[in-house]
Amino acid sequence: MRIHYLNCGTMHPRFTSLIVPHMDRVPCLCLLVETDDGLILVDAGFGTQDMEDTSRLGAGNLILNTRPDAEQTAVRQVERLGYGREDVRHIICTHLDRDHAGGLGDFPHARVHVTADEHDAALNPRDARERERYRSCHFAHGPDWAIVEGSRGEEWYGLECVRDLPELPHGILLIPLAGHTRGHCGVAVDSGDGWILHCGDAYYVKEELREDGRTPLGVAGFRRIAHCDYKRAMEQVERLKEVLKRDTGGLTLIASHDQFEYRNLFGKPLD
Ligand SMILES: [Zn+2]
Repeated sequence: MRIHYLNCGTMHPRFTSLIVPHMDRVPCLCLLVETDDGLILVDAGFGTQDMEDTSRLGAGNLILNTRPDAEQTAVRQVERLGYGREDVRHIICTHLDRDHAGGLGDFPHARVHVTADEHDAALNPRDARERERYRSCHFAHGPDWAIVEGSRGEEWYGLECVRDLPELPHGILLIPLAGHTRGHCGVAVDSGDGWILHCGDAYYVKEELREDGRTPLGVAGFRRIAHCDYKRAMEQVERLKEVLKRDTGGLTLIASHDQFEYRNLFGKPLD
């Protein structure tokens, strides 16, 4: 499987340069996996309609401040690689927040894999926060959902995982990492050269995962606002640290909004 890293949207959150300098600009990192049976996206970033009309992203976008740039959307990047939107057969979502699910509508024929808890949270929001973070316009086209139930107790690097996902290659696993949202998960992909774990929003900057590292103060504050279950979200950070301890080489962790990871991947700072 050939794997591309894509940035499918850039946010310049307001008021962060002083309070949360680590997050003064954030990418929306996604994976595009080329397989013999077509393309698989891990997270969809923002969509072309969001870029035309950012009011679709809700009041939260007044803070998140998404840059309207259709060229960053997954569909435009897929096209630049010489494919058509119909070549994307599957999309696996770490969760369904606006900055991860906005692009679903650009791939109406794709199967959309998501945990049962996340599907329920997005389509049956429980409170004002869930009603705001999930945008019903992102699901209005009627995605072809493939709902993933819980794991059967299998493990990957010591973490509970869901293997053998229907219709997906064996080298793709879901790793439940709830806390940021009710059904948030990581997505592990075997590149053939080692595993890549897309951690979604389970952490924001790698500094949080260093053994001696402390979550930078501003990032911790942001986490309190953005996570539906702060305690559980912090437990996931600790579990990811344990995963890194088990790594004997060949394991790569990425997070959606890590601008420093962006710089590593693309060899330039995020603008
Ligand atoms: Zn996010």
